[in-house]
Formats: sequence, structure tokens, C-alpha cells
Amino acid sequence: MNGKVYLVGAGPGDPELLTLKALRLIRQADVVLHDDLVSPQILTFVPRTVQFHDVGKRAGRTSTRQEAIHFLMIELARQGLNVVRLKGGDPLVFGRAGEEMQALRQAGIEFEIVPGVTAAFTAAATAEIPLTLRKTASSLLIMTGQFADERPLPDLQSIVKSGTTIAVYMPGRDPHETVEKLAGAGLPRHAACAIVSNASTPAQQTIVTTLEDLPRVGSYPKPAILILGDVVRLAKIDAFDFKDLAAEFSPAFVEPGEGAGRSVGKEAARD
Ligand code: SAH
Repeated sequence: MNGKVYLVGAGPGDPELLTLKALRLIRQADVVLHDDLVSPQILTFVPRTVQFHDVGKRAGRTSTRQEAIHFLMIELARQGLNVVRLKGGDPLVFGRAGEEMQALRQAGIEFEIVPGVTAAFTAAATAEIPLTLRKTASSLLIMTGQFADERPLPDLQSIVKSGTTIAVYMPGRDPHETVEKLAGAGLPRHAACAIVSNASTPAQQTIVTTLEDLPRVGSYPKPAILILGDVVRLAKIDAFDFKDLAAEFSPAFVEPGEGAGRSVGKEAARD
């Protein structure tokens, strides 16, 4: 009889953000296949008796690697083994789960998806940014900064105007390039933005600025996510505070100035 494959979200790094279900499945698995983004602390939960494969993909590798993962999952399940495919964050958000589900369906292998806490939610919690806010932000857009040049860009201008908070995963290594890409897609250069690195880990860091000032931040630690929109004015601030963004922001129930001026950094995260 074939084994079953579990596509499991490991969350953003903090082991306490792993779900109880994920923990149970990791402990009961015959094999664990994990990505680079899965935190080393979470990997310590994998019992020594469990087969363990690092199938991490770093940027730039070709898609045959993804096919090799499909092949491995299917072969192991055909040997009757229960396989946990462990991914950073949530498996359905930029996690290649779509392709893996398709491959498993085609091979007739049973699978189940276990959600995990995704980076946007974690970064928002870390930086104390509400992703939606009554009267200010009525929707949330999750997008990648790695949009291919030949693909049509989302019209960010109208998206921002409609009161949407934007979470940009994989914002790119070069902040100048990121700014030009996002501004080219219609995002106003004065848009408030927060870059949150290593959310939920002891190395977490939030920098609040505007899109046009992002390059002044220099290189930020990876992994990092960019959150844009008026709600960012409520963020707590770590390393740099280029503009007193909160001073310009006063939705009905927020006292003017609330949310800025505090400086909470790596030191506070370690407390
Ligand atoms: N499936 C994952 C996303 C994988 S794409 C999820 O749901 O979170 C990888 C991108 O996620 C990174 O480039 C970064 O933008 C973001 N990311 C993942 N973990 C993060 C963390 N701890 N802090 C900040 N961003 C993170």
C-alpha cells in the first residue's frame, strides 16, 4: 500500500509558531523532506530514526530540481512510507505546493496540506502593523517581488488607491531595483513601507521608511519581506526612522503620533 504525503507549513522560524498538527506529523513521519527556510530548531524535532533529506532550493537553480523533489516524494510514498514535505511559512504561499499537488495527483498518491504561519502575518505581528484597518485598509495583496519582466505587472497604483496593504515576498537583493520595479508598476514613491527581516527569530529587525528611501537602508538581512501601505505608519520602529510617518496618520481611533517614535530592535527581541 502507498504511503501518504503531507505538505506541511513549518511557519516562519519560531518553533512555537509550528502547529500541533505539524509537530505530530514530523514526529510520526517515516521521511522528512525539508526546505532551506525551515528553521534548524524545528528540525531538531525530527526523531533520529526518521529519514531526513534537505531538498532546499537556492535562487538560480533550474526547475529539474523541483522535478527531482516530485520524483523523491512519489517514490518514497510508493515504498509505503509516510512523507512529510516541510516548507517554510505556509505551503500554499510561494511554496511550489501547486506543482507538488499536481504531481502527486497524477501519480495517484494521497496527500494532505497542513497550513503554516506565513511570512506576511509574522512580519506584521513582529512590526505591530495591522494588515487591515477599519476606514484605512480594507484588503491585503500578497505578491512576489520576483515578477518576470515579460509578465504584465499588477496595477499597483489603483490597488494602493483602493486601500490595500501590500506584502511583497522575495523583494530582491538590490533595493534600487526593487523601488524601480514597484514604482514602475504604479506604486507611489512616497508610499510608507516596512522591511521586516528574520521575523519571529532572535535576529528579527524592522525598518520603516518610504519606498523612495528604501535604498538608503542599504542591505537588509535575509529573509526579508516588504509591507507597503498606510497601515505601516503604525509600525514600531527598529533601526532607522527616516521619516516620522505616524505623525501624518490619524485614523479615527488612533491618537495623532501614536505608533511611531518608539525604537524597538534586536535588543528588545532578545529580552
Ligand atoms: N511559504 C513561505 C514563503 C516562501 S518564499 C511563507 O508562507 O512564508 C520566501 C520569502 O518569504 C522570503 O524571500 C521572504 O520574503 C519571506 N520570508 C520567509 N520567512 C521570513 C521571515 N522569517 N521573515 C521575513 N520574511 C520571511
